[in-house]
Amino acid sequence: MNPTTIKHRKKTHELLTYEALFRWILPQYRQHKTIVSEYKREKAGYDGERNVDYKVATYPQKDFFVLQGIRLQNPPFYFQIDTLILSKRVLFILEIKNKQETFRYDSKQGQLTQEVSGQTKSYKDPILQAEAQKTNMQIWLERRGFFNIPIETLVVVAYPSTIIENIWDDPDVYNKIIHNESLHHHLDRLNHNYTENITTNTQLKKLSHTLLQEDSPLRVNILQDLNIKEKHLIKGIPCEKCGQHPMSRLYKKWRCPNCFATSFKAHERKILDYFLFHGTAITNKKCRNLLQINSPKTAQTILNSMHLQQEGQNRGRKYLSPGINDFPQHSIFPYKSHSKQILQFD
Ligand SMILES: [Zn+2]
Repeated sequence: MNPTTIKHRKKTHELLTYEALFRWILPQYRQHKTIVSEYKREKAGYDGERNVDYKVATYPQKDFFVLQGIRLQNPPFYFQIDTLILSKRVLFILEIKNKQETFRYDSKQGQLTQEVSGQTKSYKDPILQAEAQKTNMQIWLERRGFFNIPIETLVVVAYPSTIIENIWDDPDVYNKIIHNESLHHHLDRLNHNYTENITTNTQLKKLSHTLLQEDSPLRVNILQDLNIKEKHLIKGIPCEKCGQHPMSRLYKKWRCPNCFATSFKAHERKILDYFLFHGTAITNKKCRNLLQINSPKTAQTILNSMHLQQEGQNRGRKYLSPGINDFPQHSIFPYKSHSKQILQFD
């Protein structure tokens, strides 16, 4: 029997937004270096975390409960745990590292460095990072009435190709920074030290429930961060077949003015992407501008068809975004003419 996953990893707001940006930005900017490299960095992070998720899910321990990524608040600060494992005896925090290069770890200085074309780049000490998460988690637990639950931390290197040189051959480091491949062994080693139950079933259920309730995924604003303006973006719904935009609304369908391809639901992705970029609500007016249509009635029909939560009445009515964890996970890179590009969406 394997652990129970009580929260499955979802794409981060940042990753979803980069994917949406490739759908929204005018084709001539789509290969912009910063956009592509930031997207790839975020995607590598997500893929690395999924490697670790798979390893945890296959660990033969049935009374482990796994949260694949959670972000909690100790006001005024937030802290993000890559993977949190609950059991009645001990909690585990996994700090996941996704870079696929060679690093040097100096345990005397508490420094992680990397040589990049003759220059030494320095990174946060991953062991101290994991310890900081442990402290954050302890404070969070105590504020909610959970005391004396032991917490163990591991820094997990997600990709087998990553090399971390432990320059002082410090034996502690070999037990603290580990490769994903040896995760089961290290979970065994640590788990073995805890034989006594600290929490009851009921307490553990309550803890899981509170964690899920208080998870608050980070939102980013990449349009602002990358200085992308309206003029860089596609207006209206682009055709999935030929890329022409905007598609026009015609008898309950969208139709491409160029290749005459039609779609019933082309607006859905556009509206969900709007939420990723522009916040958590849309009005009828904003929707008309987004889809490049004139009729308030049509916009209302479209918005109602998406079964979004609503707030307010009449002209003040707002249609609310789903939570970040409820967004569709598959991405569409819609223009066939660009299929040869280096970007691959899954
Ligand atoms: Zn078309």
